[in-house]
Amino acid sequence: MHLSRFPRVFLAHLPTPLERLDRLSDELGGPEIWIKRDDCTGLSTGGNKTRKLEFLMAEAQAENADYVITQGATQSNHCRQTSAFAAKLGMGCHLLLENRTGYDDGNYQDNGNVLLDHLHGATTERHPGGADMHAEMEKVADQMRADGKKVYVIPGGGSNPTGALGYVNCAFELLSQANDRALTIDHIVHATGSAGTQAGLVVGLQAMNANIPLLGIGVRAAKEAQEASVFNLAVNTAEKLGCPGVVKREDVVANTDYVGEGYGMPAESTLEAISMFAQLESILLDPVYSGKGAAGLIDLVRKGHFKKGERLVFLHTGGSAALFGYTRSFA
Ligand SMILES: *Cc1c(COP(=O)(O)O)cnc(C)c1O
Repeated sequence: MHLSRFPRVFLAHLPTPLERLDRLSDELGGPEIWIKRDDCTGLSTGGNKTRKLEFLMAEAQAENADYVITQGATQSNHCRQTSAFAAKLGMGCHLLLENRTGYDDGNYQDNGNVLLDHLHGATTERHPGGADMHAEMEKVADQMRADGKKVYVIPGGGSNPTGALGYVNCAFELLSQANDRALTIDHIVHATGSAGTQAGLVVGLQAMNANIPLLGIGVRAAKEAQEASVFNLAVNTAEKLGCPGVVKREDVVANTDYVGEGYGMPAESTLEAISMFAQLESILLDPVYSGKGAAGLIDLVRKGHFKKGERLVFLHTGGSAALFGYTRSFA
């Protein structure tokens, strides 16, 4: 496989840092914990969607699109990074935002990522939780095409084989950083949602035969459904890359015990993880994704799932801009 064969807009600040978390590791007394800082990809407060958008937006440009449309939850990091990428490329951007939590306070509705969407010049429309967002998005796209716009539609989370290439690349980048400093990685842990991040990582790791277990901590779906959606996307991504069959079903592992009440609703363990990272490491997590991913990591370390002497890497997928949409959770 050779990623240079795919069109890409180089915009992210890469490679993102790989750092040791001394105080968190000491506090938990288990494995050595490292962090891969994909919260520092540089685009409008950063996050994991930027790596995917480097490939997706290149495809949009190749199709001569002048407008991008995508969808997500009200406080979607993906929507915010898409709006920023579109602004940088001089393209229009329209976002469909679904109120998956039912929260109606002003900060949730208009602050955080939503404030940034508008600052980057995107237009937004709101939908209630449970709407068929894919169908709504196709409707809007058809209307805009009828009005003469050249529209490129990006799926929720940027999770299709094109977007997942960004995380195949991240797997290469992380292994190269580890090799350069003779760091052996025993586990990689991260938050998994629309599946593109885990699918890309698992393809990259398997293609390199890295033999590093990858664990996705779920933020929405049940374990079976989450693993199935990651596996399907991984299969299609591997095919796109010319290495079909490289990922086996058992390579895809998700733990969905840390979702709490539902998508976008922080649990007690989410808030504890956010506080620990802020107070021990001065690293900002978010209440929807990375806070839940870190809560899973912390709990699994406490339960002895990862052993003393092992080294694990937490991939920080970003999301801190959403904190300002969640003042209700930190009152
Ligand atoms: C979207 C997102 C994730 C999940 O990544 P997927 O590729 O959708 O699985 C994790 N963390 C943050 C901060 C995100 O915005």
